[in-house]
Amino acid sequence: ADWAAAVAAVRQLPADGRVLLICHVNPDGDALGSMLGFGLGLRRLGVRRLQATFPGPPELPEPFHGLPGLDLLVPEAQAYPDPDLVICFDAASASRLGALADRLATAGTALVLDHHASNTRFGGIHLVEPTAAATSVVAEELLDRLGVPLDAGIAECLYVALSTDTGSFRFEATTPAVHQMAARLLATGLRPGEISRRIFDHRPFGAVRLFGEVLGRARLEPAAAAGLGLVWTYATLDDLDRHEQRPYVLEALIDSVRCTAEADVACVVKQVTAGQWAVSMRSKGAVDVSRVAVALGGGGHRFAAGFTGLGSAEEVVGRIRELLDDALIVEAGQERPRGVSGF
Ligand code: 5GP
Ligand code: MN
Ligand code: MN
Repeated sequence: ADWAAAVAAVRQLPADGRVLLICHVNPDGDALGSMLGFGLGLRRLGVRRLQATFPGPPELPEPFHGLPGLDLLVPEAQAYPDPDLVICFDAASASRLGALADRLATAGTALVLDHHASNTRFGGIHLVEPTAAATSVVAEELLDRLGVPLDAGIAECLYVALSTDTGSFRFEATTPAVHQMAARLLATGLRPGEISRRIFDHRPFGAVRLFGEVLGRARLEPAAAAGLGLVWTYATLDDLDRHEQRPYVLEALIDSVRCTAEADVACVVKQVTAGQWAVSMRSKGAVDVSRVAVALGGGGHRFAAGFTGLGSAEEVVGRIRELLDDALIVEAGQERPRGVSGF
């Protein structure tokens, strides 16, 4: 990572320099939290002409409505057309930035903060750390190198980002350094119980009933030559309509599906428009689902990845199934990968 160039890009900004912060479409806790937390840090540094935005549907999921730094957000159409500095958060490729991808090409300087192994190295200065648990880890380090002290607002944003991408400190990437970062953030006076309830444990009754229906149609089946188990389900726009729910409530569904003891890989296929599906995949370790995602035009991490699929839900899952054999993780000295499922 080119820390020196990144620090210089911020330090050398003219007094009236315009800074545009962007993140990936349908922003999650890491995208929004790292972007807004870093933005609040830049504000503390005295950057006055500062905007944050993201591509696509502008409504934020309700859990994010209380985040500090929301006043930095402007609609995509009102974002600086030719900023002096663009900083991009949590996007693995320019395709995740929609129309905002142009800004990276035309900006005076473009800085990319990310942690996806599949990052395509778009943009100018790269702070891409595939071993980082979240983009907010990279954002915190850059703030530190810029001499910005953590305050409660910055810390809350970075904490939301860190706890989202580590599955509340449960996933493999939850290293001692992650807990040390969490300790620094909490030391600013955050209330983790209150934040977690707001971000993870708070959904309308309609969403609870919607989950019941969608989980009720989940299927568990053998997949791949190695005899892995695949569990999957789908949710349609009609399901959302009947329960009067917005699409973002389905983001948490994969966490209920991936619990399945007999499955190595879990998928949730979420209808976006007629014949178009947003696909979430999770692996317990036998399969690198990012390889499946990249082969189907998406991206992500080894054990959590996604893509946009076309056709029917069955067809989309059929394509995933065909790619699982090639995505098996074969460790040196191991004859063939073992799943947990015993299929
Ligand atoms: P989720 O299933 O939570 O939406 O996403 C899991 C991971 O896959 C995230 O790291 C996200 O960046 C990546 N991902 C999900 N959907 C897409 C997609 O359509 N394109 C790309 N490039 N990455 C995706
Ligand atoms: Mn993300
Ligand atoms: Mn992330």
